Amino acid sequence: MSTVTSLNELKTRLAPSDRMPLVFLGHGSPMNAIEDTAYSRAWTKLGQSLPRPSAILVVSAHWMTKGTTLVDISRMPRTIHDFYGFPDELFAQKYPAKGDPALAKEVVSLLASHHAEEDETWGLDHGAWSVLKFLYPEADVPVFQVSIDMSRDLDYQLEIGKTLSELRDRGVLILGSGNVVHNLRAMRFGGKPQDFALEFDNLFADRMEARDFNALADRGKLGNLLRMAHPSVDHYLPALTIAGASDARDDLTFMTDTIDLGSVSMRSYVFHAA
Ligand code: ZN
Repeated sequence: MSTVTSLNELKTRLAPSDRMPLVFLGHGSPMNAIEDTAYSRAWTKLGQSLPRPSAILVVSAHWMTKGTTLVDISRMPRTIHDFYGFPDELFAQKYPAKGDPALAKEVVSLLASHHAEEDETWGLDHGAWSVLKFLYPEADVPVFQVSIDMSRDLDYQLEIGKTLSELRDRGVLILGSGNVVHNLRAMRFGGKPQDFALEFDNLFADRMEARDFNALADRGKLGNLLRMAHPSVDHYLPALTIAGASDARDDLTFMTDTIDLGSVSMRSYVFHAA
């Protein structure tokens, strides 16, 4: 297919749409992919309530790059089992959705000023498929991932979200998957939430309600609380991408706002165009 044909085909298929919602999901343990939990039930319910997208763009905590933002242009993204020491049932999971090479290539152009490059090696990591299998169990909506550039500061993801936001008007669902608090070194199995986890999670919700995203991307002001909540910010960045793609007209709804394992916030949220 020539580039011109594929772009024309894309324009026809991705016609202007009602503005799509934005979704951020706290994915937590990979076991949520195969267990009946409050989280997996909430993801199923959410999937049933969302308008059907023409494609899904996923920003997952588990695709980290340095110096580039990669976009997976593959036709059939593979299911990546990027974890160790879990049951065979988890390794047997497949999410056989198609990719969307034409749209993914357009996203590379859209993010040209963010050092975007095409990639055909990634696929769908568990940050993506462990929630997609509940949102769209038929795997019948094309999906592709965009990486997070770990060499940049936090506000970079707000900018990426803002740049991607125009896709919302063409039927594309932008889905972030990470955790608002994610400190695996401070986990408490069966224990109560760590104080820092509650404090960061509450601060996050408060600043989100106020649409004060800059406060959430200010390492200096967040200081030690951010370092406790996120020894590495990989699980935090997708939350900022989704915030950056929102605008003042959107309604914000929180869901599953609990702290799991003492130090993993399962807080999820949806921005609905008003
Ligand atoms: Zn994760």
